Formats: sequence, C-alpha cells, structure tokens
Amino acid sequence: MKKTLRVMKFGGTSVGDATCIGRVAQIVKDVSRQGSVVTVVSAMRGVTNRLIEAAGRAEAGERDSFHANFADLREQHQAALARLIQDPQRRDQIGAYLEKIFDEGKRLCEGTALLRELTPRTLDLISSLGERLSAPLVAGALVELGVRSEPVEATELIVTDSCHGGADPLMDRTRKRAEARLRPLLDQGVVPVVTGFIGATEGGTLTTLGRGGSDYSATILGAVLDADEIIIWTDVDGVLTADPRLVPDARTIPEISYREASELAYFGAKVLHPKTLHAVAEAGIPVWIRNSFAPERIGTKITPKGRSNGGGVKALTAIRDVALITVGGPGIVGVPDVVGRTFATTAE
Ligand code: ADP
Ligand code: ASP
Ligand code: MG
Repeated sequence: MKKTLRVMKFGGTSVGDATCIGRVAQIVKDVSRQGSVVTVVSAMRGVTNRLIEAAGRAEAGERDSFHANFADLREQHQAALARLIQDPQRRDQIGAYLEKIFDEGKRLCEGTALLRELTPRTLDLISSLGERLSAPLVAGALVELGVRSEPVEATELIVTDSCHGGADPLMDRTRKRAEARLRPLLDQGVVPVVTGFIGATEGGTLTTLGRGGSDYSATILGAVLDADEIIIWTDVDGVLTADPRLVPDARTIPEISYREASELAYFGAKVLHPKTLHAVAEAGIPVWIRNSFAPERIGTKITPKGRSNGGGVKALTAIRDVALITVGGPGIVGVPDVVGRTFATTAE
C-alpha cells in the first residue's frame, strides 16, 4: 500500500527561536510516524526583513550598518544552534555551514555597496538567505530527536520563470526535479527539510516567489509529489473570520473552499500567500491551516468545494493603501474594447 505523504510548512514565527524549532521538530516527528513527510520552512521570524534592510543599506553605501545587521543575524542563528544541537561534531558542521551563508550575504552586500546598485536578482539572493539558514537548523533539530533528516535547497527542486521577487513555477520541470531529488530520500525514511520562498530558473539563477511565498512553496511541492495533504503550520488556529490583530474574538472557520481562501488571501488575509492554492487547484489536494503552538487544535481545512454555512458572511478582510479608480464618460457604452483598454492603461 502507498504510504501517506504530507507536505508540512512552518512559518517564521513557528521557527522563531530554539524553543519554537524544538516544538516544530516534535510535530514533524509525531506526524512522520504516520507516513512520509516533506517539511518546508520559512526564515526565522524577522530575518527576511532584516536581510532586505541590509540590502537597502548596502545600496546606500552604509557599510557599517549592513554589517551590524549580519552581526545580529549571526548571533540569533548561532544562539539557536547552540541550544538545539547537543552533538559537538554536528553542531560544528552546521555552524560552519551557517558561517558560509553569512559570508555569502556579506559579499553580496559588499558588491552592492561598491556598485551602489541593487538589482532584483541580487535582492533575491540576499533575501533568500534566511530560509537557507533555517533549514539546516530544523533538520539538525530533527536529527537530535532521532529522526533521519536532511536540509534541501529549493533551488534544486522548484524551477521558475525569471520574474525576480514574484516568480512562478514551471510545474512539469519542477515535478521531474522534485521526484528525482526527494523521492529517494522519502523511500529511505528521511525527512527532507526544504527552504521555502526560493526557486531557480532553468539556468540556475535563484528567484523568490514573493513575500510570504513559503506557503506557495509547500503547495507547489505537494502538487508535484502528489501529496495526500498539505499542512501549513502557523501562529493562529486556522483561517479566521477576520484578522485577529484587528478583531480579537475572530473565530476559526472549520472548512473553506479554495476560491474563498484565495479571495481572502488576495484581499489582505496574511495567513496565506495569495497564490498558495493555484498550485493545487488541479489536483484538489486538501490544505490544512494549523497552529504550531497548539497542535491539538484541528485548524481549517481548505478543500476544492468548501462547506456551506447556510448563506451567511464567512469572513471579512481589510486591505490598506488601496486606490479606487472609477472609469466613466458619456461615450463608454458600446465602445469596442473599452474594458480591455481600461485594464491595459491601469496596468501600465
Ligand atoms: P507565517 O509566518 O506562519 O507564514 P503569517 O504572519 O504570514 O504567518 O500569517 C499569519 C498571520 O496572519 C496571523 O498571525 C494573523 O495575524 C494574520 N491574519 C490576517 N488575517 C487573518 C485571517 N483571516 N485568519 C487568520 N490569520 C490572519
Ligand atoms: N521568509 C519569507 C518572507 O518573510 C517567506 C515566508 O516567510 O513565507 O516573506
Ligand atoms: Mg506567511
């Protein structure tokens, strides 16, 4: 019988510090007893923002201040490493790998400071470092718990177009790469810990899927590996009836459709990257949103059709900094292509 395969993604708050990573490792260990697991991780909380800030400081030629960012990030990751990994040899090995990534980041920022130019391609390289730092920590924490695990960089798996800062996957090519790289690990009972947020073009240039894009990484991998389910572990109980930061008594929605969830995400519900469900639309794989801080709670199930609540409003979202453009005029009705031209002009 085919083993159940789950892709589980953990967001920045869920891997925010050593205690959180320990909790994540325990969840993965428990779930891996019931079948195969591919883990996808975000950067530790706040790290991507700090990296983007460092890139901006480099572009402005502020060498001291971007070096200060890297010093803080180094401290944050080395502290987590020291708390998570007891085995000295493994700790040194992971520590040396983290140092290599910090050196890479500093070199990229030095180059940017020299040129005083930050291209979208370089920004992707710098902002991707957070996931490349967190994946070895999470894999190391799993090994500490006796789970066989290995970090994998998604540049080896997710093939994208070259739209830096918001790339889209080429699914057929991604399927081939992911099968070739991940299936042998899964067959051997190894839990791959994949960097979220990142992909690479066919030619190997690193891209990112857009801010919050690790959710999308999880569904892309779930779709190409024909996963049975995808679980997005975050810091709230599921998709809620409103943003809990604005409405403290918002409630968890037990089941919601792909379309409803996409619409909420598109219109401001940060809990999901707006493209998350694109990748699974065809396969119809259920996507769960669950709380890594309260794994006993069931969460929200996102399914192709969802479940009716009898016709009432299911959820509200709010989105800031929106401009509303009204297009009108006496001669607009019946003018050929007026809608097409309006959209084209607005897009420009
Ligand atoms: P992660 O780091 O796990 O990807 P995010 O911060 O990206 O988490 O998304 C989770 C956050 O989304 C929650 O902490 C919550 O504040 C916010 N949020 C906004 N709207 C909603 C909603 N309708 N349901 C759930 N969470 C929401
Ligand atoms: N670390 C990336 C970000 O902060 C991606 C993610 O967290 O999903 O945007
Ligand atoms: Mg997110």
